[in-house]
Amino acid sequence: MSRTTKEKNVSMSSKNVIKEAIVRHLHCSLGTDENKANNHAWWKATCASVQEHVLEGLRKTQKSHYFNDTRAVHYFSAEFLMGRLMSNNLHNLGLFEHTDQALKELGVNLTDIMEEEPDMALGNGGLGRLAACFIDSLATLDLPAVGYGLHYEHGLFRQEIKNGEQIERPDSWRDYGNPWEICRPESIQEISLFGYVETKYGENGKIQKEWHPGMIVKGLPWDIPVVGYGGKTVNVLRLWQSQASRYFNWDVFNAGGYVDAQKENVQAETISKVLYPNDETEAGKELRLIQQYFFSSCSLKDIIRRYKRAHGDDWSAFSAQVVIQLNDTHPAIAIPELMRILLDRAELDWDSAWAISTKTFAYTNHTLLPEALEKWPARMIEKILPRHLEIIYEINHRFMAQVEQVWPGDDKVKQKLSIIEEGDEKMVRMGNLSVIGSFAVNGVAEIHSALVKKNLFPEFDKMWPEKLTNVTNGITPRRWLKACNPKLSSLISEKIGDDWPLHLEKLNELSQHADNLKFQKQFMKIKHENKVDLAKEVLALTGIKINPKAIFDVQIKRLHEYKRQHLNLLHIMALYRRLLENPDYQMQPRVFLFGAKAAPGYKLAKDIIYAINQVAEKINNDKRVNDKIKVVFLPNYRVSLAEKMIPAADVSEQISTAGKEASGTGNMKLSLNGALTVGTLDGANIEIAEEVGDENIFIFGLTVDEVHQLDEKGYKPFDYYYQNSEIKAVLDWLETDYFTPGKPGALASIKRSLLEGGDPYKVLADFESYSAAQSLVDKAYGDKSAWAKMAILNTARMGKFTSDRSIQDYVQKIWKLDKCVVE
Ligand SMILES: *Cc1c(COP(=O)(O)O)cnc(C)c1O
Repeated sequence: MSRTTKEKNVSMSSKNVIKEAIVRHLHCSLGTDENKANNHAWWKATCASVQEHVLEGLRKTQKSHYFNDTRAVHYFSAEFLMGRLMSNNLHNLGLFEHTDQALKELGVNLTDIMEEEPDMALGNGGLGRLAACFIDSLATLDLPAVGYGLHYEHGLFRQEIKNGEQIERPDSWRDYGNPWEICRPESIQEISLFGYVETKYGENGKIQKEWHPGMIVKGLPWDIPVVGYGGKTVNVLRLWQSQASRYFNWDVFNAGGYVDAQKENVQAETISKVLYPNDETEAGKELRLIQQYFFSSCSLKDIIRRYKRAHGDDWSAFSAQVVIQLNDTHPAIAIPELMRILLDRAELDWDSAWAISTKTFAYTNHTLLPEALEKWPARMIEKILPRHLEIIYEINHRFMAQVEQVWPGDDKVKQKLSIIEEGDEKMVRMGNLSVIGSFAVNGVAEIHSALVKKNLFPEFDKMWPEKLTNVTNGITPRRWLKACNPKLSSLISEKIGDDWPLHLEKLNELSQHADNLKFQKQFMKIKHENKVDLAKEVLALTGIKINPKAIFDVQIKRLHEYKRQHLNLLHIMALYRRLLENPDYQMQPRVFLFGAKAAPGYKLAKDIIYAINQVAEKINNDKRVNDKIKVVFLPNYRVSLAEKMIPAADVSEQISTAGKEASGTGNMKLSLNGALTVGTLDGANIEIAEEVGDENIFIFGLTVDEVHQLDEKGYKPFDYYYQNSEIKAVLDWLETDYFTPGKPGALASIKRSLLEGGDPYKVLADFESYSAAQSLVDKAYGDKSAWAKMAILNTARMGKFTSDRSIQDYVQKIWKLDKCVVE
């Protein structure tokens, strides 16, 4: 048999096997048949047939990891923003084409049934999506890894827009069952809360501490298999659900502790009920701290159980076998928790316990924004975790002695470095605890890591010059190019072969075709087709008709002042005003597309969403602008919506105030799909500019140093208001009822935020420069060939930003892990 015939036969049989499996599940798992089944049933049956392959891979992987007793990384994250899994699992298993064919023969459209899957939205934004990209890369690179997090019953709220305003609705991603997850009651853990600590004197006068908890809660693990590209390694994401246990301590009840707990109405089941919807703000709520401790403690105990299976009570190999990466400070309470287990349970002495602990943890810092740096009232920790507060004090006491060695008699530096912030209310700084308790600390882009060293933790850097480092974020090209942009993926594979999803730097071979007119046409034809698809989606979702020939200008990310959606909006209003003043004003037709959720308690962010929608309503219905501008706010921005918007984007808005965006990953996804960035020199934009070249990106605005200088001399927003008549006109427009008929002043809060109290985000300072950059974009789009070349070079030069490279950086600099190839 010739090679191709053989391949055809393999492919035939594999397709037929899939077809047979789907039908079998339709009959035997779902109790329906081909005639009765709706899309939801087809989706479930297809999931079940894919899951057969997934579970086989999982079994082999676990066997392999067990027999090799490998060192593994444990990625602790309060958020995993996974999105949908069907398309990803099919692509990573190499079954997408066959499944598509099999379903076609059954009269079913794979794309349609994939729409039945609810997003797993167990995260807010970038931080949670990063965790999801990382576990994809870990499995793809055959690295032993477990993701640990919370099994929220309700993920991030669903956003509806009513009369221009955001309404939050509960997200119920498991309403009809989730076909990917496996319940593991055999691995339940119990965790303690509240109560008091008893000091006892053991043999030879040794002090022993015993925590008498007031409440015990059960943690039930759910495993979500994580399939690596190529389908060899299948790791797990283990998410903990809280459950009530029968335990009730009458001692503690009588002592008052449990009564307190009841008053606060912390019931076991509420712990994993909801994801806190705050992005870049600490919640400061008791339940949030309990969530953090609950999943950290369950995960640690799970790790220790597995370690003991191989090593018994010998702790000497623990830090050689186990590394734990803390995704931000959310799981930082794991540090005193491991210390507690080593001291009170394993009965190690302090120095031995601390040596193990500080060789186990590494910490990723995600932000410099003061409002996002977690601090907990010491009294709150004392009430919920009394033993942990003692341990934190002891860690701090010993650390202060170290500081005294380096800066003798310097109380200022001690105040600054202390885990405890003194004041009206004593607070525990989780960032300081994380740096002190970890062997490595990383920022998430070069500029951000430099600022962590220079501004956030300079003294820590002096004490431990090797500890602080950088690992620039990345994204998985499997989801963010191969799966979401199938047409472009095929074109790329035709040109350079099909192994680019594993070796993204190979995209650079496209550069040599960037000047080729035929290739430019092919590339831009696909972009156009993707825009036609998105235009249909926009019409279906909002009723707004948009022109696929217009520039699709996209800003998609959480709504936050530092991300400056309002800068984009002010510029749109300025363009609109220019068109009204001069009907001959020359510009390429442009569609401004937004997607963004605001934290429910963030008033100004919600006002900005309202303003975008009101301005959109006015402009989209104004015949005078002759369809030169359209503004679309797509509700309920989430991973599955991102996957539809990104392949259709011409322009990517990455316009945060310099120094405020740690990295960004949306910037990477858009550029990878051939969108040109309009961006500040902030976060990973700087590294994107380095890669694509200054001629293929539109950089504008103040630099980090210039923002700093402006702060030094005092930022005066009224200067810009009075000196730039366009700024003044646009801001004053917000105060009229032009965009909010009958409701003058409904948008005034935005104007106030930009002028009064100094605006830490410096919107007006960057307006002119932004507007100039946008004029260059407009001009550039007029030259189709030049634009195509720039778009191609963006895709071609994004190799650095694969999350595989990020993971390899972590392995080299921090984790020191070896591959474990699964047979
Ligand atoms: C990538 C992604 C983000 C992060 O976007 P940034 O622009 O980096 O803030 C947020 N939400 C979703 C759904 C994403 O896919």
